[in-house]
Amino acid sequence: MTWTNSKNRALAERAQAVIPMGMYGHQSVLLLPDDYPQFFARAEGAHLWDVDGNRYLDFLCGYGPNLFGYGDKEIDDAYAERMRQGDTMTGPGEAMVELAEAMVGMVDHADWAIFCKNGTDATTMAMMIARNHTRRNTIVLARGAYHGAAPWCTPLKRGVAPGDRQHQVFYDYNDVESLEAAVREAGDDLAAIFASPIKHDTFVDQELPDPAYARRARELCDEHGALLIVDDVRAGFRLARDSSWSLVGVKPDLSSWGKAIANGHPISALLGADVARMAASTIYATGSFWFSAAPMAAALKTLQRIRDTDYLERTQALGHRLRDGLDESAGRNGFALRQTGPAELPLIMIDDDPTLAKGYFWSQALIKRGVYVHPWHNMFICAAMTDADIDFAVEAADDAFKLLKTAGPLEPPAKLSFMNQMLEH
Ligand code: PMP
Repeated sequence: MTWTNSKNRALAERAQAVIPMGMYGHQSVLLLPDDYPQFFARAEGAHLWDVDGNRYLDFLCGYGPNLFGYGDKEIDDAYAERMRQGDTMTGPGEAMVELAEAMVGMVDHADWAIFCKNGTDATTMAMMIARNHTRRNTIVLARGAYHGAAPWCTPLKRGVAPGDRQHQVFYDYNDVESLEAAVREAGDDLAAIFASPIKHDTFVDQELPDPAYARRARELCDEHGALLIVDDVRAGFRLARDSSWSLVGVKPDLSSWGKAIANGHPISALLGADVARMAASTIYATGSFWFSAAPMAAALKTLQRIRDTDYLERTQALGHRLRDGLDESAGRNGFALRQTGPAELPLIMIDDDPTLAKGYFWSQALIKRGVYVHPWHNMFICAAMTDADIDFAVEAADDAFKLLKTAGPLEPPAKLSFMNQMLEH
């Protein structure tokens, strides 16, 4: 089928009239290469169909929630059955206790769980609990890390009062000296150190955590009576069947979860150790939909699959197949790639591309060949992908490299200069 986008364009035009900027947040295609579809009609397994009927092998996985494939029957049946019996009721169902037991049983550092809707709910509660526990204010955060879209952490400063950003000190991820300096600056007001499980900031190469840095973060929290918070919203259960920092042998006091824990159904969680139980019991946090039973039923099924299948090893193997195939294709066509981070959470950047002009061209060519990739955000491998899917993507990437080779000099993407202007204000 030839690629068309007339329906998408018409919807985008209507959206301009009734949705600010036509779309907001990370689901907006405003900063993506031209022709990226904004609206989708259907999703199944590893694939996504836009409103014009174009099919994509989807390496964004809904920006993380899709772990076992879109519309997984077993998980969605559990959701639908619970839905029919009662979802958002005057109080929670049995599934809430079962889910707390399941999460606490799987995540070694955790003794309790609070469920919420979005990752931001969980990271914000983590901050409040650390402040309540320590009766101090200052949180130490890695520069450039994403923890959500509340005033204390949203990446664009528009609409944020200076007071919303008070009591924050920044360090560079994996840099022990800079972490120690930030902790010194926080002085006797240190409430918490926040860490992403890996460095997965946008636009820059990913970094696995240096165990020495993770251990030092733990020690510094212990020395100062502060809490260590690992934000596992994006990477949770994609790198391990436990907290992602179980891989470096460091236990946080609090960890935030979301995205993949119910394979796309809306639920997130904050997990904590006993040390923070009292502080968690005495903050006020809630939401109208936080107790909905159907996403909890879906999460229970998802966790069972996480425990009982080889999904992790398979997504890792698929990620390596993609990485190797792309490296080979890039090399054959005279390009080099910077593929960083875990293979199952791939970030793919074209080397020697400071303006991202090559990355934009290449991603756009892939979209037209039915592969949804992102030019500057890490991507996700889902367990519904097959070797044949990966080979299809590598073949499409090879075509895209061939086009790029003959494209001549490229203009820097105008869309990115728009974003830089927004960031400056
Ligand atoms: N933390 C991390 C590491 C994330 O990746 C995200 C979402 N991209 C969040 C927090 C916020 O989650 P949500 O968008 O569900 O509020």
